[in-house]
Amino acid sequence: MKSLIKNFLIFLIIFLIISGVFSLLGSQNKRIQEISLNELVQEIQDELVQKITIEENRLNILLIDQTQQITFKEENESLVELLNNYGVSPEKLSKLSLVVKSMRGRNTFFNIIFPLLIPLLLLVGLIYFFSKQVKGAGMQAFKFGESKARKVNPQDKKVKTTFKDVAGVQEAKEELKEIVDFLKNPKKYILLGAKIPKGVLLVGPPGCGKTLLARAVAGEANTPFFHISGSEFIELFVGVGASRVRDLFTKAKKNLPAILFIDELDAVGRQRGAGLGGSHDEREQTLNQILVELDGFEPNIGLIVLAATNRPDILDPALLRPGRFDRKIILDLPDIKGRESILKIHARGKPLDQKVDLRKIAERTPGFTGADLESLLNEASILSAKINKKKIGVKEILESIERVLLGPERKSHILSKKEKQIVAFHEAGHAIVSHVLPGCDPIQKISIISRGQAAGYTLSIPEQEKFLKTKSEFLDNLSALLGGYVAEEETFGQVTTGAANDLRRVTQLARKLVTEYGMSKVLGPRTFGEKEEMIFLGREITERRDYSEEFAEIIDKEVSSFIKLCYDKTRNILQKNKAKLEEIAQFLLKKETLEKKTFIKIMSKK
Ligand code: ADP
Ligand code: MG
Ligand code: ZN
Repeated sequence: MKSLIKNFLIFLIIFLIISGVFSLLGSQNKRIQEISLNELVQEIQDELVQKITIEENRLNILLIDQTQQITFKEENESLVELLNNYGVSPEKLSKLSLVVKSMRGRNTFFNIIFPLLIPLLLLVGLIYFFSKQVKGAGMQAFKFGESKARKVNPQDKKVKTTFKDVAGVQEAKEELKEIVDFLKNPKKYILLGAKIPKGVLLVGPPGCGKTLLARAVAGEANTPFFHISGSEFIELFVGVGASRVRDLFTKAKKNLPAILFIDELDAVGRQRGAGLGGSHDEREQTLNQILVELDGFEPNIGLIVLAATNRPDILDPALLRPGRFDRKIILDLPDIKGRESILKIHARGKPLDQKVDLRKIAERTPGFTGADLESLLNEASILSAKINKKKIGVKEILESIERVLLGPERKSHILSKKEKQIVAFHEAGHAIVSHVLPGCDPIQKISIISRGQAAGYTLSIPEQEKFLKTKSEFLDNLSALLGGYVAEEETFGQVTTGAANDLRRVTQLARKLVTEYGMSKVLGPRTFGEKEEMIFLGREITERRDYSEEFAEIIDKEVSSFIKLCYDKTRNILQKNKAKLEEIAQFLLKKETLEKKTFIKIMSKK
């Protein structure tokens, strides 16, 4: 229907423009010859003229042989007088017929309507053009409350995702299977008086497969799946989000049993009243509407609301109350087994070299999310294709791991000889301190090739995944972070800006030890600073002071003393290992990279 009107509009515009152009051309199309007044006078003297039609200053001349001519006179001058002045005798004049025509009658179309029509047409054309251009934002202004929810039909084979496509989140899958089972056989549960949760919240870091898992639920359950992202609720006009929510729930309720999935719930579900200015009014209304809708249907009618967020800490507590999103499913970063199985899924359709061992890759990628692993394999296949390999090799995969971690190599980033030296000593400093201290992860690789932001880098990978860290491990990490700074200082007598990023991390980490982990003996087991979300002019202000000025001073002192402690330790280590530092730096200057094996060989020399 809409497109019909649109097509008609286009047609109308084109038609009007064409007919306008033609009528303009048409009036001049008869090849009328323009002559001068003198020539006209001559023609009258020769008695060639049959008729003159006067239209204001325009004289249309019809000759006896029926040719048409045209000439102009001054606007307010009478033709008769004019001809008199030119010496045309009254008899000659009486032989031709003079017709005076008022402009007003004939030319209303050209003089009044046409000038109005052109801008009008332009306006219509412009509006049409813009409405096409700004479809995303502009037109939505006209489509107000309609939700943009996408419906995925169970019959749609192409987009079908199932639990098989999700790996490494076993517990989450088990819990969701229960829900799928309910949607498939609701009677079984209802007969036993079970109440299936209405709202299920998927919580986990970005890229760990929340959206993927929700899609898999839809694919498994064979029910319609309504999908909308929280950020889509936030609109130009207050109230639009709320009406979208209403619309979404209405649609889902018409298609029971159904799953309704709100992705990125935190975009609307932030704590109410925490914002200053900005769009928080709109968000509040949208959030309220979600709460109303969640309360507005009975459990067990076959509607299940799934939501995903990576910031459960900032969600409004009202969302988490019983009867709303009361079931939480946590998705963690995948462990080594999880990573291996995720790699297996994404290695489908990618020919891998025989030497590639997915287990080994999983070992080297702690902290990678599912999305990281996917992009790792993708990068590797691109790299292999670039050098015309038929299969993806180990080398490409190792290179891709570093790419995903630090960004692509920047070979064009050319350092001067002096700078190279500084970077080499800096990285060697990190590596040696990490190696000596037991709390640090083993060194995998050292490089002085620029990557992303870093001029050089030292990769260390934990032997085993850790969930808890001790104070001494943190302190060792602090020392290792300071390794670059101290190495520069010890070798060159001064430091460069290359250590700035390390120092920021050192300070942040030391502060956390004191204010979050209670690892300072002086301050004891308490935290400092309340994490709070405030949006002020688009910026998040995240800490609120819940301690006095005196404590602030002590915290600063403690942070500094932690750093000083680690700094001294680092200096001590590097002074003792001066020869090794030199050797590793020289190796790096020659070869640019240093792998684990060679590094250990150098370090274990007497
Ligand atoms: P989230 O919504 O948690 O931010 P997504 O579900 O959008 O993350 O994940 C992004 C992509 O990463 C997915 O499309 C998928 O290809 C891959 N991925 C993430 N986690 C997994 C997993 N557990 N198993 C398989 N693939 C995964
Ligand atoms: Mg997502
Ligand atoms: Zn550094």
